[in-house]
Amino acid sequence: MASSNVINILIVDDKPGNLVSMEAILEDFDVRIHKATSGNEALSKMLHNDYALILLDVQMPEMDGFETARLMKGSERTRNIPIIFVTAISTDEKHIFQGYGSGAVDYLFKPVDPGILKSKVKVFIELYKQKNTLEELTIKLENTISELIQSKMQLKLAKEQAEQANKTKSDFIANMSHEIRTPLNGIIAMSELVLFGHLEDEQRKRVQSVKQSGESLLDIINEILDISKIEAGKTEVEFTGFCIRKLIQAVVQPLTVKAGSKALDLQVEIAEDVPDNLIGDPVKIRQVMFNLAGNAIKFTEKGTIYIRLEISKVDGDNLWICFTVKDTGIGIPENKIGQLFDSFTQVDSSTTRRFGGTGLGLAISKRFVELMGGKIKVKSKLKEGSEFSFTLPLQVDPECKNSETAEPEIKPPLVKNAEPADNSMISVLVVEDQPINMEIIVGMLSLNGYSIDTACNGVEAVAKVKESHYDVVLMDVQMPEMDGISATKSIRIWEKSIGNYTPIIAMTAHAMKGHKDQFLDAGMDDYIEKPIKSAIVYEIVNKYANYVFK
Ligand code: ADP
Repeated sequence: MASSNVINILIVDDKPGNLVSMEAILEDFDVRIHKATSGNEALSKMLHNDYALILLDVQMPEMDGFETARLMKGSERTRNIPIIFVTAISTDEKHIFQGYGSGAVDYLFKPVDPGILKSKVKVFIELYKQKNTLEELTIKLENTISELIQSKMQLKLAKEQAEQANKTKSDFIANMSHEIRTPLNGIIAMSELVLFGHLEDEQRKRVQSVKQSGESLLDIINEILDISKIEAGKTEVEFTGFCIRKLIQAVVQPLTVKAGSKALDLQVEIAEDVPDNLIGDPVKIRQVMFNLAGNAIKFTEKGTIYIRLEISKVDGDNLWICFTVKDTGIGIPENKIGQLFDSFTQVDSSTTRRFGGTGLGLAISKRFVELMGGKIKVKSKLKEGSEFSFTLPLQVDPECKNSETAEPEIKPPLVKNAEPADNSMISVLVVEDQPINMEIIVGMLSLNGYSIDTACNGVEAVAKVKESHYDVVLMDVQMPEMDGISATKSIRIWEKSIGNYTPIIAMTAHAMKGHKDQFLDAGMDDYIEKPIKSAIVYEIVNKYANYVFK
């Protein structure tokens, strides 16, 4: 309708003379005049044309103007066309009201005054033009809106596709890193085993470098694995009881050698009111603290590294602990602080050559802190040092007494043996399907003098436990035929029937972190993480071998 540029006006009058005179009055307008001599003819013309205005005679035979107007107003298509009634009869209000009731917008009296008719028609033509412009604008607006909606949908789709691609990439990296870790762990553990034996000085140095390079590579792969797991949304937060002072000790201890070699002073202060036993994710907290404290040492040439823990606020059950690591090192330029927590960011590329590192540590730390519900921030001045701090909501562990003095947690059927066993008297069954891992664990255990037996899957392990007595079983979790969890369940059922109990320790991969409850629920007593470290495996074997079944 609005698209046509021609403006049509319909004049309806049963007297052709009136039609002609009104047409003549309107000839100056740039409009096309249509004429009808009856209401019916007018209605039929309206079916085929779009009118800007109708001039409608009131008194007509058959169908008068009011009836014609009523029918026009009854149709959706013609309802909004303005009508001016042209009437010769009385100006009495009754007629006027009837006209307005049938939808008139105005009145004119016969004989028509050309000036009045012209000025009224002019107004309606103007209105019609504006209505058309408005309609065109509305259509344009509707088109723009629908284009916007469409591009928004395309954007959403593109975003979803990008997210999916990113997730696929992260999954791929996570899998790759995991695959690389396995042989790398083999290299590190084998070189550790070689180092236990007799070596010439030069050979020892070389094997030590193999081990150190392997460990550096493992650190990098672990960071890549961590960041890709975070990006793939696969990182979960654990809630478990832990001792905060032990955790900080475990962070600081391996760093003291490094700090000592640079003559740095390493000061740790844990405010007295920080409770020992808290609930949170100790693995992530340790990793963040290790990264911050490691960086502080790495980027400080002289002075002191301060580590401080204090309560920043208490809100309901949450105890907000503020962890601060402050150094007197090289500092960070102000314009670099904003990007510090982005992945692969290092203040200047020469630091990579001087100090090594991937630029992932702080990105992982920030994500970990945020996943745990906290916030991390940094203050730094060039040549004056940096202060990294994060605050975490943790809960006090009500079940735990002071764990510094507490006995190690051992499951109920076991009680402490009076006599610590001699290692050669401790029999250990190692259950592991991968030959290299088996060789490493057996190598480590034999260096400490245990008596060892092996099984290469769950079925074999169950059969061996039924045949002979073992003080401790070290059980891999993922194995073909029967996995470690099913094997443990089956051993526990059999033991119950004969009244026996063997401590079973799970050996879990890094990726299985957080599955602790699953191991314990299956009847395992404890777990150690792969790559197996000799000191840890000795500690756990002796701990459980010194306990007996009640
Ligand atoms: P990496 O240490 O592996 O390079 P990080 O993400 O832990 O990765 O650190 C990123 C960069 O931030 C570092 O390379 C260094 O430039 C800067 N940085 C981090 N901690 C400190 C610090 N305590 N003092 C000075 N610069 C730091």
